[in-house]
Amino acid sequence: MAETGAPFIFMNAAGTLNDVITMVHEGGHAIHSFLSHPLQLTGFKEYPTEFAEVASMSMELFSMNEWGVFFNNDEELKRAKELQLERVLTIFPWIATIDKFQHWVYENPNHTHEERLQNWQRILTEFTPASLDVSGLEAYRNYSWQRQLHLFEVPFYYIEYGIAQLGAIGLWQQFQKDKDQALQNYTAALSLGGTRTLPQLFEAAGLQFDLSPAHIKGLMEFVKEQMEKV
Ligand SMILES: [Zn+2]
Repeated sequence: MAETGAPFIFMNAAGTLNDVITMVHEGGHAIHSFLSHPLQLTGFKEYPTEFAEVASMSMELFSMNEWGVFFNNDEELKRAKELQLERVLTIFPWIATIDKFQHWVYENPNHTHEERLQNWQRILTEFTPASLDVSGLEAYRNYSWQRQLHLFEVPFYYIEYGIAQLGAIGLWQQFQKDKDQALQNYTAALSLGGTRTLPQLFEAAGLQFDLSPAHIKGLMEFVKEQMEKV
């Protein structure tokens, strides 16, 4: 709310793992609202989406140590953490697929249904590892782009999640080393709202704004190590 600065979370809960993830994810956005509320101008309280999702995606990872309050058996807790970390990794090829497909769609506005199918298959195959056996699933895969709401409602808004996820993994890496320092960096960067550019916001959080294969590889290796520890 503009005057009090109180954010509200709208969510539906059905007792599943997704409820937990949604709540902590949206909780990260809520903290962002609280921290940027004291900024003088309304425009300052609007931040780049790539950084808004750093706030929320980091909170998903920071909160994992506390997920035990939701689960009453260790086996389910372990499965939940494994699934979460798998999602952290598998979101990248899916983002690449959706982004590349969307570029093709807009560059070829007069394409036919058949051309669209062929190009979707080509791009999806490019980002599907050859080791994955998808035989028998063609009927579903041929139109699986339709499950991505962003393609219909918010054109070209999807790669932001990839940029943000890199920041969230970086902050989680800091959190494993020094929790207090990581939280300090997190709150300092979120408190800046939209008063800085995206690379400056990354910098304020102690993160490298680096999209190079080498940097991404390092982050992926870190997540893989964490998966082995679950
Ligand atoms: Zn979000």
